Amino acid sequence: MPADLILTGAAVCPIQSAPIRNAAVAIRGDRILAVDSAEAIDAFVGPATRVIRLSPAHAVIPAFNDSHQHLLSYVRSRSRVPLWETTSVAGVLDRLRAEVRRHAPGSWIVAVGHDQGRLAERRHPTLAELDAALPDHPVLIYRACSHVALANSAALARAGITAATPDPPGGRLERDAAGQPTGVLLEAAMALVSRVIEAPAIDWASGLREAAHEYHRRGIVAVGEAALGHVAGLRDLELVTSLVRGGELGLRMYVIAYGTVAQHMLREGRAGVGEWGSGGAGEWGRAGVAEDSWLRSGCIKFFADGTLGGGTAWLTEDYGDEPGNRGWPLLPAEELNAQVAQAHRAGFQVAIHAIGDAAVAMALDAIERALEAWPRSNHRHRVEHVEVIHPGLPERFAALGAVAAVQSCFTYWEEGDVTRLGPGLAPWGHAWGALQRAGGVLANGSDNPVLPDFAPLQGIAAAVTRTAHNGLVLAPHQALTIAEALRSYTWGGAYASFAEREQGALAPGMFADIAVIDGDLISPDPARIAEMQVMMTIAGGRVVYAR
Ligand SMILES: [Zn+2]
Repeated sequence: MPADLILTGAAVCPIQSAPIRNAAVAIRGDRILAVDSAEAIDAFVGPATRVIRLSPAHAVIPAFNDSHQHLLSYVRSRSRVPLWETTSVAGVLDRLRAEVRRHAPGSWIVAVGHDQGRLAERRHPTLAELDAALPDHPVLIYRACSHVALANSAALARAGITAATPDPPGGRLERDAAGQPTGVLLEAAMALVSRVIEAPAIDWASGLREAAHEYHRRGIVAVGEAALGHVAGLRDLELVTSLVRGGELGLRMYVIAYGTVAQHMLREGRAGVGEWGSGGAGEWGRAGVAEDSWLRSGCIKFFADGTLGGGTAWLTEDYGDEPGNRGWPLLPAEELNAQVAQAHRAGFQVAIHAIGDAAVAMALDAIERALEAWPRSNHRHRVEHVEVIHPGLPERFAALGAVAAVQSCFTYWEEGDVTRLGPGLAPWGHAWGALQRAGGVLANGSDNPVLPDFAPLQGIAAAVTRTAHNGLVLAPHQALTIAEALRSYTWGGAYASFAEREQGALAPGMFADIAVIDGDLISPDPARIAEMQVMMTIAGGRVVYAR
């Protein structure tokens, strides 16, 4: 049977078998026909076959799977004021002042990407500084992690927040010595302000097309949508059903449902998730979502704690730079246990956000209890982020069969997270190596849009070299090998979304979701990985990006 498309002459990394030099991949329709030596693949050349000859120094890999990111939030964030590049408090204020000229007095300014850890002063702008810079506009600045936000006095006034306002459940208003709110809103307290902001109109169809291009440019074809429902409740589900399903975007999405979408799935869901094929277009899947091979669902999201950068991730030891603070759990353990048990019992996979080691232990406890009461093999329950662990936790991941959905790009961009840890936990920050060596499954990703960039090659480089953007090398004993890092960013995400029979590796019958890299990923100089570029991305046999 002749191939439609052949990529030949490069190194091929099939992931689930040994890499081959001077090899080729033959594609027919949306599937891989064969992976073999360049010579053997010549047999698949027919009169209509398109043959792309690559350099022996290039690598053909499965397209990346970003197992935890937020595509809808990314589209929305592109309509907000970006603060990723700012490096000082004055820089933040200047960027906001520049924006004010384009907005009538009284209209909202919403900014994203603020990270005090990247500012020279290593602190947030104060309420007085924000008020002086923006006296006439209500301002809400989201910290990069989206778990902390800063409001100016005009924004606090619009939200009706005064010294008398109590902390909402699961959140805190930071207050000064006199008890006055400082404008720093932690976790659930952000909603006090965000709910009074008039939402700007977003053109989702074109926004998603542009976003898909940015993903393809980075070699990504599959994504885990890590909290569908977070942007606009059930409308999020309508959006992805109409725009992601069918494959026009060239992105395969696995839905991890949150809030009202999660409630919908729990209500409508039928049998368990797990063993399934690619489904037929239009078929209503088990989770009450119309599925096809581009849009699948079956996972419910929970939150156990906050973030390290925000000081709200729950640790077993004080933050090194903030004595007396260990963060806190966002809900009592009994409540998390009950929620996880409900979803597990209904046959769903769960994904629990847990960043601090105390929260990771709480998440694993909840999974363990659910499995004890209702045993199920192949559950693939996930813990999201896992930024700090302690001895014994890696072995628990492996023993429970829980997936660690990690983001090694954080090692590159958020070194300030790990350097906040005290002496006991510092060696256990971003402990990807320990998790891997204990035999656990790592599903890598970016948590986009929380970092300045979300390129998988950057995440792979950071996992291997443990080197941050400022040159700092973090706990090098926690490094992954290149093969391990590559597997976590391809097969790992496919496994975590029950799709490894069709995605995340190069073998006959798998989807032709492929990236071509302009460097040798078999035995490269680790320092070179971060400079490598994606040359071509193929989604379901279709070339969706070429440089
Ligand atoms: Zn996330």
